[in-house]
Amino acid sequence: MTERYAVIGHPVAHSQSPAIHACFAQATGQDIDYGRIEAPLDAFERTVDEFRAAGGKGLNVTLPFKQAAFRYCDEVADRAREAQVANTLVFGERVRGDNTDGIGLVRDIEGNLGLPLGGKTVLLMGAGGAAQGVVAALLGAKVGRLVIANRTFSRAQALAARVKATAARYEDVRDQFDIVINATSAGLSGEAVPFPAAAIGQATLAYDLVYGRDTAFQQAARAKGARCSDGLGMLVEQAAESFFIWRGVRPPTRSVLASLRGR
Ligand code: NAP
Repeated sequence: MTERYAVIGHPVAHSQSPAIHACFAQATGQDIDYGRIEAPLDAFERTVDEFRAAGGKGLNVTLPFKQAAFRYCDEVADRAREAQVANTLVFGERVRGDNTDGIGLVRDIEGNLGLPLGGKTVLLMGAGGAAQGVVAALLGAKVGRLVIANRTFSRAQALAARVKATAARYEDVRDQFDIVINATSAGLSGEAVPFPAAAIGQATLAYDLVYGRDTAFQQAARAKGARCSDGLGMLVEQAAESFFIWRGVRPPTRSVLASLRGR
């Protein structure tokens, strides 16, 4: 019997997750139906309740509901507990939450982009849900130094203290980093994020979690000669981990990523 999954968010019309999971299902022979649900901003829980009551088996959760999803769970995996946000829900007798963003980012940088994280210096821009979701995985990949910068400095301090990283104000960043990760949502709204020019040089990987548009961050990093990547590979890798959690089967990712990039 076809089992139902979906991505839930607000807005969610732009999400590539249904296309990605359709490719995964086809490649692995899994009989699933994966849709998208735009929940009203004040009705995340009710919308999830309805999906479960209709037999839904699991959800991916995106902006702005990842914290609400964490609270919705009866139990959570360590990755979600460390992040305090959930992007994957599994519906059985109990509701289990997980967070696959961190492993998705690490697999994209190490596997798809071929850059081992061990010993690397990393500047993480942002301290919201996405940043919270990736710090533990970056530290788990044994980065040499992790600095977190955020517009609201107190949030950078709170996150850095939780994971034993260093917090910085954008204007105080003076060193060049091996990897600079833009985990802010500024690119989504077309705003320019404060660009830490000193942090990015020709040897830097400038990684933007945003995908599907050429953000001001990517343009400024390219102008400095840096290697650039958007977050599409992370999206595919985090989806693959969610698929594995739900179905117990690992889908291929490189071919799916290549087809999304039109190659
Ligand atoms: P969020 O929880 O709303 O956090 C937003 C972050 O961006 C905060 O740190 C915020 O700083 C910062 N920010 C927003 N506008 C800014 C500006 N104009 N200048 C400087 N900082 C600004 O959002 P999120 O869940 O972390 O998502 C962040 C981004 O990651 C989104 O674009 C999302 O689409 C993307 N994402 C991609 C993937 C993927 O698979 N590729 C996965 C997850 C998320 P303050 O704390 O000062 O407000």
